[in-house]
Amino acid sequence: MPETVGDNFRRQAALFEGGVEEAPAPVSVEGPFAGVVFNRPVDQVFSYRIPAGLRAKVVPGQRVRVPLGRGNSPSVGYCVSVDDSAEIDPRKVKDVIDVLDDPPLIDGAMLELTRWMAGYYSCTWGQALDAVVPAGVKRQAGTRVWKCLTVPESTLAKKADGSLKVNPKQAEVIDVVARASVPLTVADVCNRAKVGPGVVDTLVKNGLIHTVKRRISAPPPDADELDDARRAAPELMAEQKAALEKLGPSLRGDGFATFLLHGVTGSGKTEVYLGAIDEVVARGREAIVLVPEISLTPQTIRRFRRRFDRVAVLHSHLSEAERHRHWRSIADGEVQVVVGARSAVFAPTRRLGLIVIDEEHESTFKQETVPRYHARDVAVKRAQLEGVPVLLGSATPALETWRNAQTGRYTRIALDERVGARPMPEVTLVDMRYEKPVGVVLSTPLKTAMTEALDDGGQVILLLNRRGFNTYAVCVNPGCRSVLKCLHCDVSLTYHQGRRKLVCHFCDAERERVPTCPTCRKLLYYGGIGTERLEREVRAAFPDQSIRRMDSDTMRGHGSHERTLAAFKAGEVRILLGTQMIAKGLDFPNVTLVGVVDADTALHLPDFRAAERTFQIVTQVAGRTGRGERSGQVLVQTFSPDVAAIAFAREHDYAGFVEGELIDRQKLGLPPFGRLVRLIARGPDAMAVKAYLEAVHQALMEARPSVVAITAVVPAPVEKIRNLYRFHLRMRCPSPKPLQDLLRAIPPQFPPPSGIELAIDVDPINLL
Ligand code: ADP
Ligand code: ZN
Repeated sequence: MPETVGDNFRRQAALFEGGVEEAPAPVSVEGPFAGVVFNRPVDQVFSYRIPAGLRAKVVPGQRVRVPLGRGNSPSVGYCVSVDDSAEIDPRKVKDVIDVLDDPPLIDGAMLELTRWMAGYYSCTWGQALDAVVPAGVKRQAGTRVWKCLTVPESTLAKKADGSLKVNPKQAEVIDVVARASVPLTVADVCNRAKVGPGVVDTLVKNGLIHTVKRRISAPPPDADELDDARRAAPELMAEQKAALEKLGPSLRGDGFATFLLHGVTGSGKTEVYLGAIDEVVARGREAIVLVPEISLTPQTIRRFRRRFDRVAVLHSHLSEAERHRHWRSIADGEVQVVVGARSAVFAPTRRLGLIVIDEEHESTFKQETVPRYHARDVAVKRAQLEGVPVLLGSATPALETWRNAQTGRYTRIALDERVGARPMPEVTLVDMRYEKPVGVVLSTPLKTAMTEALDDGGQVILLLNRRGFNTYAVCVNPGCRSVLKCLHCDVSLTYHQGRRKLVCHFCDAERERVPTCPTCRKLLYYGGIGTERLEREVRAAFPDQSIRRMDSDTMRGHGSHERTLAAFKAGEVRILLGTQMIAKGLDFPNVTLVGVVDADTALHLPDFRAAERTFQIVTQVAGRTGRGERSGQVLVQTFSPDVAAIAFAREHDYAGFVEGELIDRQKLGLPPFGRLVRLIARGPDAMAVKAYLEAVHQALMEARPSVVAITAVVPAPVEKIRNLYRFHLRMRCPSPKPLQDLLRAIPPQFPPPSGIELAIDVDPINLL
């Protein structure tokens, strides 16, 4: 459940001690004091006195346990500063109880980065800090406290002057423990000294050896340490070499700069990343590589492991213990390259040298819960704070990124040629308005092309970005025409034949398939094509081929994604069909045909990025073909062949597409020409939600500088999710600062009434 400003407000009253109104005038009190913030919506740094016993231990970046609120319940917060004194009411001084981490989890640069996030994304510092440290690390998952052994000075002294009376086995144990650089466990010592635990026990009893408790991780499981054969870099293409030359000075320590590596699909962007990382690693620095979760495939990971010795991978399938272990080894400086999804932007590298973001246009880099940050923008900020370069790569850059390259904030580096000078695949549009019969899934041209490609020994990828069998059910009665919706959401239900259920893709609620309209009892017509139905049609048309479907329904099992791709790579599967999961990053030389079954799926969404998304997905999936010796072709089925997004994708013409698109965006003041903030209020009572957001709206209108435009309060495009009614408004401004200032003015005066939540989304990606 996303934490929103709303549900936080209800707790807020309890958090403020004594309330704002009765706060006595603070005076300066001698400390030292720790400034502490909490993962709560209270935007305040609280001061706690550090007791003498903890003085050496409490440092910024450390988690501390402190009493909080009227009840003084022990709570965990983040120490963000240590000062000699604090402005505080002397009667209210409280002490730090304990420290949780040693060494601290967060360094100075990360403290600064999270403070920036709090200001920019309108959350609290504590909320931003909490997003940085993985849960497994906070819980110290996979570690336990072991009894370890040390040799006291007194024993060493006796040994030195010859007064130590021990037998040879005991002497060996003392030697082993004394020589070790870290305290060893009893088992370790017995192993090394080749003695039984009884020998150790006797020494401990006699006081010749001491025991200490240490928290140590369990021995690392080596399952994910694929021992890949090392591969040397290929001879680079001229454009790749030129790209590395342009990056050179920054990689060698020239400081912060942002580069856009704009390379067509198959132009060898990854090889440029690897070359850049090479330079950084050679200087003893570390690199972070962010890729969309969907592209964190074994194929991708292997490319990095084959080139570098110490690669840590952070992804959502890791257990908490594994994540903890990776995080620690990164923090200990044992890793050269970190590859991970969105949150790896916070990887605790020691000597960061470079951040790479592959497929920087992907919307999964945006987090949809508090803090609602965009990993690309956080990466640029982090790189700026740490004085290192960022490399953003894409064939279809986000318009925000493109604009930054146009204005010179980012440096654009182009790879216009495919590796080996392979031609871009030819793209043919199939105008579905003229295909017979109406409602056909595979047009005649697509079927013919599939037959030819398969006969020729090639493989086929079919993209349809909608899962399920039928995507809607509508009443045939012209006087009714109701669409079957979820009982809890304002969303039409999808029929899943595999489960024989109608499913809501927003709340996952299921219900039985019904033949008739619940309103008027006439027949329901089940329409719309999802991947299940596509699979059935393809099996019927190509009964002898081995076919595999890849979407989030078939890819639930652990490793299923990997197995399917391996089977496809080995040629055991000839036709791979699925959702956008198959559109990204895959590099299979034998794919000679890509079919886009319905290019219009994203085109008609109420989202100003609909055209951009459509262009991106068609271009990306088209790029999966023609990557080997054989040329490739692409067939795109569409009802809108003349729409710019589709017409330009056909020509592989990114520049042409953005030129027109930017004009439209500029007219409307939309990103990249304006900044947006979206406020979403939700609650069980529609009228109360609306009234609340209207009150906020009123306050914003009064406080607003003239550069900020604010829309009226309207129902969100999806009016209800999980029985909560949703209203929203949007604020727009050419620059971010006035929006931030304005946001600071609202929430405290406007705690939502009970049951209502308010979410603030800065630079929103999801507009539904
Ligand atoms: P992109 O990410 O731009 O789509 P990739 O980096 O995946 O492209 O490269 C496409 C393919 O070309 C990969 O199989 C890669 O190993 C190969 N490749 C890249 N650069 C070279 C090169 N200089 N010489 C030979 N093969 C290369
Ligand atoms: Zn639902």
